[in-house]
Amino acid sequence: MTYPSTQLFIAGEWQDAADGRTLAVFNPSTGKEIGRVAHAGVKDLDRALAAAQKGFEVWRDIPAIERARTMRRAAALMRERAAEIGAVLTQENGKPLAEAKGEAMAAADIIEWFADEGQRVYGRIVPSRGSLAVRQLVVKDPIGPVAAFTPWNFPINQVVRKLSAALASGCSMLIKAPEETPASPAALIQAFADAGLPAGVVGLVYGNPAEISNYLIPHPIIRKVTFTGSTPVGKMLAGLAGQHMKRVTMELGGHAPVIVCDDADIALAVKAAGAAKFRNAGQVCISPTRFLVHGSVQKEFAETLATYARGLKVGDGLTEGTTMGPLANPRRLTAMAEFTQDAVKQGATLLAGGERIGDSGNFWQPTILNDVPLSAKVFNDEPFGPMAAIRPFDKIEDAISEANRLSFGLAGYAFTSSLKNAHILSQRVEVGMLWINQPATPSAELPFGGIKDSGYGSEGGPEAMEAYLNTRSVSITNV
Ligand code: NAD
Repeated sequence: MTYPSTQLFIAGEWQDAADGRTLAVFNPSTGKEIGRVAHAGVKDLDRALAAAQKGFEVWRDIPAIERARTMRRAAALMRERAAEIGAVLTQENGKPLAEAKGEAMAAADIIEWFADEGQRVYGRIVPSRGSLAVRQLVVKDPIGPVAAFTPWNFPINQVVRKLSAALASGCSMLIKAPEETPASPAALIQAFADAGLPAGVVGLVYGNPAEISNYLIPHPIIRKVTFTGSTPVGKMLAGLAGQHMKRVTMELGGHAPVIVCDDADIALAVKAAGAAKFRNAGQVCISPTRFLVHGSVQKEFAETLATYARGLKVGDGLTEGTTMGPLANPRRLTAMAEFTQDAVKQGATLLAGGERIGDSGNFWQPTILNDVPLSAKVFNDEPFGPMAAIRPFDKIEDAISEANRLSFGLAGYAFTSSLKNAHILSQRVEVGMLWINQPATPSAELPFGGIKDSGYGSEGGPEAMEAYLNTRSVSITNV
């Protein structure tokens, strides 16, 4: 199985960093170095910025229908190459091959949806209060070159959501993609290049995240910033963007509550929440984490979820039959050990997992903790790993209060057969995305984003396009 080293993509060309610096890329299943990624310096960033400005001036003037054609060609290439791209993604991130290939295929859907949506960016005509000779127009224009910062958990998906909306709006984008998983986002950019995207419309760099964000965000060429990652980093970048009056979209951490009512279909709750919990080894911002289960069904739910967790096949994502891969980096292994030890010390019961598997690769057992006290770290900080923490509730109001207790507000899940409960939950749970009696089903056409400390802005639906557009009013009078 081959794994490519990754260069920077500047002004339509793949190239090494000007000073030749590179960083190592590791396979999380083996811990071994599998390739290198170019490390951009200021010289590279200056060239990438100038290219993004030129790219923007070309792309904004191309009719939306033509832009859509280019985007659709890129989508077709992603589908054609999904198996090959999936194998690259699995090697750098660890997720099972089927999930990795699925991510490449899903990228094609996202690109196509935004290609279509880009043709429906309409302004409006507003009747004048005075003379009929006055024509008042509301127009929407692309905001300009965008700086995007994306993480390693969905290396393709996190880029394609941002890039598709930006391209469909007529913006150019300079992406700082994850150093830990550089080759799969590079394959996405290659698909756009092969589809005929003009030089400079997209740029791709890697390096030191803080150095790059500190340089790009205040730069006058950059007109908008979009970031996916942790809440503390997001707050820092939003602060910097605020100082320079840059538009911002922040897609940050979550700590998704799962409310399982006494009238829930337990088998469905375990299947839906279990699949969501262990997808991508739990390293998902919308991963269910705080399981609030009615006391009358807690035992049944917890035991069934523990059986589900023990049934997962943890291994190298390239091995046939693997249902959960390793954690993406050793930092997550340390975090899992800390969360488990702290919860058990505070009185939680370990129903499944709780240990590292082997001593090479970042494998962690799917972990279920029951009767977890509210003071445990896992009930307060985002675990971002294959760990479910369960505690009981008595009244639905108590479950809702606990769901809303934290400053996060990204995703939530609930299971109930009562329409009344479903209505109360849909109105009172403070999250950007709520799934009732079903697994998470994010799609290009639905808004995707959080509230409270989970960020602002949306990466789906027409709202995602708005984030890349300026709205201006123009009034014309006959003379
Ligand atoms: P981290 O906070 O160090 O980094 C998170 C992401 O932000 C990474 O992609 C990193 O490259 C980037 N980053 C960090 N500092 C930056 C800076 N100054 N400028 C620009 N980008 C910067 O944490 P980590 O160990 O990589 O990941 C763990 C935590 O990150 C998790 O607990 C989770 O909360 C969060 N995370 C969230 C998502 C998501 O989908 N929302 C994805 C990945 C990580």
